[in-house]
Amino acid sequence: MRKILVAGNWKMHGSRASITELLGDIVAGAGARPDVDLVVFPPFPYLSLVQELALDSAVSWGAQTLNPQPKGAHTGEVSASMLLDFGCRYVLVGHSERRALYGEGDGDVAARFAVAVEAGLKPVLCVGETLEQRESGDTREVVSRQIDAVLDVSGIGVFSDAVIAYEPVWAIGTGRTATADQAQAVHAFIRDKLAAQDDTISGQLRILYGGSVNSSNAADLFACEDIDGGLVGGASLEAKSFLAIRDAA
Ligand code: PEP
Repeated sequence: MRKILVAGNWKMHGSRASITELLGDIVAGAGARPDVDLVVFPPFPYLSLVQELALDSAVSWGAQTLNPQPKGAHTGEVSASMLLDFGCRYVLVGHSERRALYGEGDGDVAARFAVAVEAGLKPVLCVGETLEQRESGDTREVVSRQIDAVLDVSGIGVFSDAVIAYEPVWAIGTGRTATADQAQAVHAFIRDKLAAQDDTISGQLRILYGGSVNSSNAADLFACEDIDGGLVGGASLEAKSFLAIRDAA
């Protein structure tokens, strides 16, 4: 049985004060369910604070993106080794907001994924279709293409230490969750696709669902055979709802 992973993407939210309180409450509640991995993704400036507050706790942390270059003239960017300096174990790659707002294409995402793996970070590869793509019946093709971009560069082996998050774009931050059946169908498709290359890796891979997960819909989603946890945005900004989602696992 794979261990459920519940991850909180804090996006560009929070302050020193609010994150101190939020993480303090999450850390205090984290020990109650050692069977669930908890990870938070704060904005870059708060990584140091999160490292200080979550050190030696049951909560891991990561960054919301990274630059694939090791160093140099890349104003505003952050490298993998910098993230390791702040104790990050995970990094999101290819979040739909990075793809849509900052022009990250499949090639950029694949490069970031490869660099993360090489540095020893666990990448959480975010994939998912827009509403238009779903309505045109292209969901599988889109998700397949996004995963193939990474497979072509890094191969199947790296998925033994990575996570995939299926996040339909139309469900992110909209309050419109995919039904458990809709989500399960895509998760099963992803697992089957990877199983064609390596059955063992595919069987052990954690595939998270993301898109308006909350304490009311989490139990139905997590009960699905191929849903191994959630990538949670809005509902991770309140410790009570984040921990309630964890309790639904
Ligand atoms: C996300 O940030 O990846 C996300 C799924 O957000 P929300 O839970 O708010 O839809």
